[in-house]
Amino acid sequence: MRKPFERTVRTAVTMGLLDLAVQAVDGTKIVANASKDRVYDAEELRALLGRLDKTISELEAQNEAGEDEPAVNLPEELADKKVLKEQVRQAMDDLAGRGRQKCINLTDRDARLMKSSQGIVTGYNAQAMVSPLQPSVGANGMLVTAADVVDEPNDSAQLVPMLEQSEETTGARAQVTLADAGYHSGSALDECARRNLQLVMPESSRRRAQHHPYHKERFIYDQCNDSYFCPHGQTLTPVGTMRSPNGRPRRVYRASAATCQACPAFGVCTNDLLNGRALTAGPHDAVLRRHRTWMSTREAQKISKRRKQLIEPVFGIIKEQQGARRFLLRDLVNVAAEWILLATAFNLRTLWRIWRSGAVGFLPCSPASQPIPSV
Ligand code: SF4
Repeated sequence: MRKPFERTVRTAVTMGLLDLAVQAVDGTKIVANASKDRVYDAEELRALLGRLDKTISELEAQNEAGEDEPAVNLPEELADKKVLKEQVRQAMDDLAGRGRQKCINLTDRDARLMKSSQGIVTGYNAQAMVSPLQPSVGANGMLVTAADVVDEPNDSAQLVPMLEQSEETTGARAQVTLADAGYHSGSALDECARRNLQLVMPESSRRRAQHHPYHKERFIYDQCNDSYFCPHGQTLTPVGTMRSPNGRPRRVYRASAATCQACPAFGVCTNDLLNGRALTAGPHDAVLRRHRTWMSTREAQKISKRRKQLIEPVFGIIKEQQGARRFLLRDLVNVAAEWILLATAFNLRTLWRIWRSGAVGFLPCSPASQPIPSV
């Protein structure tokens, strides 16, 4: 389904319809074609397999050696149980190979439990990058420039793949990308800084930090001396490294235990009598600090307000007008094709509106188009 989708985008780009100065990315949870009641963890699968074995043995005994005539529908029931047993076996193997994933849906093994506006659903995380039409087109609207589906509820690893896809589809790099706090991560910021991409993206811990007087963000980093100044003016210097839960090294900074014990903030800033307050800094701290400074500017705040206006109408139209409240297909690869088809339909709808308004002539065909075959 990617080729027709890409063609809608390239048609718009070739005709100068897209304003690639800005783009916005977001994800939306779409319910899978699978019941939430069919989600099992490893233990429940083992118990289900045991129950099925018992039922199958009983049905086989009844079929072969029962004194009464076997029920007419018995062979069918037996076959159904055997199919279910095979599904359970496959699901057990699948789950065993999925690392940290704790449970699996028997109907659609790729669907995952996710938090959505409708509560916890069995579904997928559908991603879209959009750019607005040029003001000169004389019509409001957006075009989807990248679309994908992931089985990961969290958006934090999706920013770079979506940026790459939109760049490839449009053949251009948008000047500014807008994303919400769900995409914020040090590694994504680092990658974007390396590619010289400008991001407007708040961070989720920001609000918490503003209310905690001794949050790490309140400590000022001194780049010349590789140390931090705490809110009471004391210096925290590097004392070693530690491993974070994901195995990455982090530098540890501390003030002396005696300094912290004598501080009026002792008990609020830290309770560590032996060592005093510790701060840790990962490999992305410098880029995180730069991004935080950028996000506190009036310009970034102003641009940030455009995010919802760009992306949310697109999801609204796809879900409400195109009826994509629930996927029709199953398995990640099929669901991704269905989502890309929906994005293609959305783009065609936008292009049709422009064509119908007569604001832009669609003939002669753009270089992205192929000759129309005669019928
Ligand atoms: S407890 Fe230590 S690190 Fe925290 S504010 Fe006081 S002196 Fe600074």
